[in-house]
Amino acid sequence: MEDCLFCKIIKKEIPSSTVYEDERIVAFNDINPQAPVHVLLIPKEHYASLNDIPEEKKDILSHLLLKAREIAREKNIAEKGYRIVLNTARESGQEVFHIHFHLLGGRQMTWPPG
Ligand code: AMP
Ligand code: ZN
Repeated sequence: MEDCLFCKIIKKEIPSSTVYEDERIVAFNDINPQAPVHVLLIPKEHYASLNDIPEEKKDILSHLLLKAREIAREKNIAEKGYRIVLNTARESGQEVFHIHFHLLGGRQMTWPPG
């Protein structure tokens, strides 16, 4: 989609620090990390948020989640613990309207989230 920051990252029109890529998804380091590990995982197909993923595309969600788990293992935070965040729409704090999971870890998290 034109004028979507993350679509531009997918097309490599904007540089990113890629952690993983396959035919369906990309994972890259967040530009403003909120934890020692802060990776964003996105589908290559543009959907604004979870609200926009059609039922027939639900497999992309499990692919993103299990890849986040794999990256957590590679980054050595799987056993210590990590948090996966999926901000959805305005009140959640979503700022980039191309669906993305945040993988956060490497420090003690607190609850409730802000
Ligand atoms: P959200 O608030 O859930 O929409 O999260 C958007 C995230 O994208 C924030 O954590 C930003 O730091 C991150 N972000 C914005 N621009 C870039 C960029 N060019 N490369 C990597 N991460 C970015
Ligand atoms: Zn997009």
